[in-house]
Amino acid sequence: GMDEIAFENEPALWRDMFPWPHADDHKYARGHVLVVGGEIMTGAARLSAMAAARAGAGLVTVAAPAPVWPVYAAVLTSVMVQPLDDASNLNDILADARKNVLVVGPGAGVSEATRQHVLAALDTGRGVVLDADAITSFGPAPQSLFSAIKGPCVLTPHEGEYSRLFSGHGSKLERARQAARQSGAVVLLKGADTVIAAPDGRAVINSNAPPTLATGGTGDVLTGFIAGLMAQGMAPFLAASAGAWLHGEAARQFGPGLISEDLPGMLPRVLRRLK
Ligand code: AMP
Ligand code: MG
Repeated sequence: GMDEIAFENEPALWRDMFPWPHADDHKYARGHVLVVGGEIMTGAARLSAMAAARAGAGLVTVAAPAPVWPVYAAVLTSVMVQPLDDASNLNDILADARKNVLVVGPGAGVSEATRQHVLAALDTGRGVVLDADAITSFGPAPQSLFSAIKGPCVLTPHEGEYSRLFSGHGSKLERARQAARQSGAVVLLKGADTVIAAPDGRAVINSNAPPTLATGGTGDVLTGFIAGLMAQGMAPFLAASAGAWLHGEAARQFGPGLISEDLPGMLPRVLRRLK
């Protein structure tokens, strides 16, 4: 049946829905990604933010804990930085409804504050991409996460993060599908082969990914690519599929010696060939 079928991820599956800019676009028409940054591992949110910008989001903002916001501001030029006080002013930052896709998790820390940020993001009903510590923070209580998911949402766990939220068994394809059904989110289960599954049963397998991706920070870049595409109106399953393929292709074209911060800058030449 349908459950055994999954296509290999390739541009033909989503190229027609790719959000190429239009002549009459302005920055607000191309979406605004908000990345909630952490206090310790600041590189992760910076990678997601740069990746979202390279994927074509019109605007990208990092909301960074007030004590460290100058760290972010000093290294991010085309990305805006807003100070985030103890969780309380995230709702003020989210009051700008043009921030249409929210990223929580990379470098966020496993904490009650991260859980609150995730719930505040999901409560908006806007696009949400949850990765890393946003996933791990719900390990003890996954149902409280699943029941909060009501809008377009993508979860991007690696195997360890997957097993903190889900108890799926079987093939990787089956486990991604179970997780998507259970959570109501698109689930992108990472690894050498990445499976992308939607709650309605659609799934693709992405094998366009060289092993040079096995280095710190590449997952944070993938999160940003997906968020940047969703911000421009791409549906979550297609954005996750396109993001995974572009991520692998950027690494493939870069070749040996790759580090995660090389990936966003590779996107322009990958996209030039795709168009
Ligand atoms: P993370 O575990 O969050 O840092 O994400 C790592 C990224 O690198 C994911 O996109 C993985 O799919 C990818 N990746 C990790 N190991 C490999 C590998 N051996 N071959 C291809 N891609 C990989
Ligand atoms: Mg990661």
